[in-house]
Amino acid sequence: MESVPLEAEMDSPEPTGLPTETRLKDLRVGSAPVAITARLVTAQRREIARKSDGGRRTILSGLLTDGTATVRFTWWDPPAEEIDPGTVLRAVPVEIREYRGRAELSFGWRTRVAPASEHELPVVPPEELPLRSLRELRAGSDGFRLEVRVAEVAPKMVTVGTERREIHEGLLHDRSGLAAFTSWTDFRLRPGEALRITGAYVREFRARPQLVLDQRASVERIAGTELPAAEERPGTTVEPMGAILGPGGRERVTLEGRAVGVQPPSGLIFRCPSCPKSLRGGVCPTHGAVEGRPDLRLRLILDDGTGAVTVNLERAQVERLTGETLAGALQFAREHPDPAAVGYELSDRLFGRRFRARGPLRIDDFGASMYPTEIGPAEPGPDRAALDLRWRRSP
Ligand SMILES: [Zn+2]
Repeated sequence: MESVPLEAEMDSPEPTGLPTETRLKDLRVGSAPVAITARLVTAQRREIARKSDGGRRTILSGLLTDGTATVRFTWWDPPAEEIDPGTVLRAVPVEIREYRGRAELSFGWRTRVAPASEHELPVVPPEELPLRSLRELRAGSDGFRLEVRVAEVAPKMVTVGTERREIHEGLLHDRSGLAAFTSWTDFRLRPGEALRITGAYVREFRARPQLVLDQRASVERIAGTELPAAEERPGTTVEPMGAILGPGGRERVTLEGRAVGVQPPSGLIFRCPSCPKSLRGGVCPTHGAVEGRPDLRLRLILDDGTGAVTVNLERAQVERLTGETLAGALQFAREHPDPAAVGYELSDRLFGRRFRARGPLRIDDFGASMYPTEIGPAEPGPDRAALDLRWRRSP
């Protein structure tokens, strides 16, 4: 628990006149209370000790951004409900404090805070925004301009509350590197297009920065002569595993390695009919006891002598690489009471073969793993014979 002086907050003078609508980049320490509209980037709730009587008080603090700047805020006695990052808030009157030489917002008992719409955020002329490279982006970054090329883009259905929505996900690149993006608006992006993007913001996703384009973002096609060529596909050069297993992972890498084993759960699994989770003993962690639907997966360990990566293969990839179908695996499972038998059988078919895989590399406490967007034999030819093996069925 920390102690902070509260006297200043308590003794604030009554505001005179209407607070002025102010962009975050125009905040001035010592000016009269203002009105702001901004998006919540991060928020942390904690309790602090009151200096006067040692009583406790709750505060919510974090970062707010409105596209012109990102600033710290402190909200005294906030509502008990959680507020999701990304929510746009309008707050009035808000006092401006100084914290380590920078302006900080303070929401006190007089401040009215209400949800607001994206459209109420300030409109910022693009030429006012600094040009950033993808390598410079950090979670919470906002108020920048990007000039990038679309490397990959694909639609994806997601569930937001009770609603199904189509979003677009993909990868952008420039001379500095790569960044994943999610777009909540269909900008009709195509691979190879060069874009100037403003009004986007950055969040953290799987320990890496991810660019978010929503209704506020604006996308303009440009010539892009300074950008990597349209044909260039990032992350296609095979890299030694030992060289890329640093913290944070990478958006796209290409690896080659020999299959040295599988990790559980591999083989035939049963998923919840209502969500993608796999069942344990017929039970979904979210939905309880359910009738599972069968699926195939393999968590294949590839080793190239410098390191090892667990490559997660989904059903279509398992079927293509092993030559076995889900129906065949179900038949095999009926003939073999050991639940792990299918996993061993499929892994036997891949064991010792060399594969090339490309996709996002994730590094966490469990090691390095990839959900490959592409996977196939590393060297067409010698290893192909293994594809012709049939199930070894017991008599
Ligand atoms: Zn479920």
